[in-house]
Amino acid sequence: MSIGLIANLSYILSAILFVFGLKMLGSPATARRGNLLSSMGMLIAIVAGLTSKGIVDYQTIAAGIFVGAIIGSLAARLVAMTAMPEMVALFNGSGGAASLLVGWATLYTGDISTFTAVTVLLAILIGGITFTGSLVAYGKLSENINSAALVFTGQRIVNSLILIGILVSGYLFSVEPSPNSQWLFVMVGLALLLGVMAVIPIGGADMPVVISLLNSYSGIAACAAGFAIENNILIVAGSLVGASGIILTNIMCKAMNRSLANVLFSGFGAVKQGKAIEGEVKPVSVEDAYYLFEAASNVCFIPGYGMAVAQAQHVVKELGEILEKNGAEVSFAIHPVAGRMPGHMNVLLAEADVPYEQLVEMDDINPRIENVDIAVVIGANDVVNPSAREDEDSPIYGMPIINVDKARTVFVLKRSMASGFSGVDNPLFFGENTRMLFGDAKESIAGVISEFN
Ligand code: NDP
Repeated sequence: MSIGLIANLSYILSAILFVFGLKMLGSPATARRGNLLSSMGMLIAIVAGLTSKGIVDYQTIAAGIFVGAIIGSLAARLVAMTAMPEMVALFNGSGGAASLLVGWATLYTGDISTFTAVTVLLAILIGGITFTGSLVAYGKLSENINSAALVFTGQRIVNSLILIGILVSGYLFSVEPSPNSQWLFVMVGLALLLGVMAVIPIGGADMPVVISLLNSYSGIAACAAGFAIENNILIVAGSLVGASGIILTNIMCKAMNRSLANVLFSGFGAVKQGKAIEGEVKPVSVEDAYYLFEAASNVCFIPGYGMAVAQAQHVVKELGEILEKNGAEVSFAIHPVAGRMPGHMNVLLAEADVPYEQLVEMDDINPRIENVDIAVVIGANDVVNPSAREDEDSPIYGMPIINVDKARTVFVLKRSMASGFSGVDNPLFFGENTRMLFGDAKESIAGVISEFN
C-alpha cells in the first residue's frame, strides 16, 4: 500500500470520527465521548498529514503533541467557565491566523495556478478577517474594550471602500501571484482591518452570534487553505466547522428573533433604553422565601449568567433535591442564549449532576409556565425580560424569552437592580408577583437550604 493511500484512508477514518463526534455533541449525555472521538480524529489527521508528505518526523510530532497537550490541559483547567467564550474567540482567531499563514506559505512552493492563487487569496482574506475580528470579540467579551456597539457616520462607506480595496488588490495580486507581491501586503492589511471594522459595530446581546459566525469563518478559511495545499482532511474539517458554525449562528439568531443582517449591521447596543419602568420592588428575605418554597408543589429554576458567576450550580441542585423530597415537581428551564456561550447552563448543570430529564427547553416550559408555583430566576436577566415581548421600543424587542412573569410567584436572585448583558432595564423586577431575593445567588440558596435543615 502506498503512503498516499494510507494517508487517504486515515483521512476517511478521521472524517468519520469528526462526523460522529459532532453528532454526539448534540446531547449532554454523549458530549464528552463526542469530544474525545473528534480529538482522536484530529490526532490521526495531523499524524497522517505531516508524515505522508515527509514534512516532519515522528519525534517532532510527539514533541508537538506534548507541548500542545500541556497548553491545552492548562487552558482547560485554568480558564474559568465564565471566561470560556473569550477562549473560544481566541481559538477562532488562532484558526484564522493559521489559515492566513498556510495560504501565504503556499506561495513559496513554486509555480502557482490561477485556482491555487484564488484559494490562497480566500484563505488569507477570510483568515485575516477571522483573526482580527476574533481579537476584537475577545476584547469586548473580556471587557478589555467597551462592549457597546461602536457606530459612526460613514461607517458603511468606509467598509465598502475597504472591500473594494480588497477586491482590487486581490485581482492585481492574482495576475502575478508571488509571496513578495506588494498587492498581497495591501490585501492582508485590508483583510485585518475589515475584521476589526466588521465587529466593532456589534455589541451587547449580539456577541454570541458573532463568536459563532467567526467560528464558521475560521472553518471556511481552513477549507480554503485545504484547497490551497491540496489536503483533503483540511477541506473536510474546514467544511464541517464552517457548516456547523453557520447552523449554530442561525439557531442563535432565531433564539433572539433577529436576522443575521440585523445582527451584523443594526448597531445593537448603541441604542440605550426602551420605555421607562414604573412600579414597586418587593424584596424578600431568605426566611420568607423558605415558607413559599416549603408550600410549593411545582418549582422551576431558570439559570442565567449570574449562576455561573456565583458558581451556584451545586447548591441549586441540592435545593432541587430537597424540594423534590418535599413533594414538589422540579425542573430547570434553559434559554438558548442564557449565560455567555451556547450550552453554558447545560455545562454547569451537568457539572453539578442535575439529571438530564429535569432540563426543559424554553419552548417546552412557556406553554405550561402558568402552572409553575415558583419560578426561581438565578442570575438571569435578559432572557426573562418581558419588555422583549411587550415593549416595541426596547432594543431587545422580539427576542424570545422564558415567560417567568406568568408563573404564580417569581423569585429573582441577584445582587442589585443592575441590568444584564444588553444593558436594558427589566420590568420583571417590578412585577406584582415578583419577589427580589437580593445577594449572591450561591449564598441566598445556601440560606434557603439551611432553613430547610
Ligand atoms: P444577563 O447578563 O442578562 O444577567 C445576568 C445577571 O446576573 C445580572 O443582571 C447580574 O445582576 C446577575 N449576577 C451576576 N453575578 C451574580 C451573582 N454572583 N449572584 C447573583 N446574581 C448575579 O444574563 P442572562 O443569562 O439572562 O442573559 C445572557 C445575556 O448574555 C443575553 O443578553 C445574551 O444574548 C448574552 N450573551 C449570551 C451568550 C451565549 O452564548 N449564551 C454569549 C455572550 C452574550 P447583579 O449584578 O445585580 O447581581
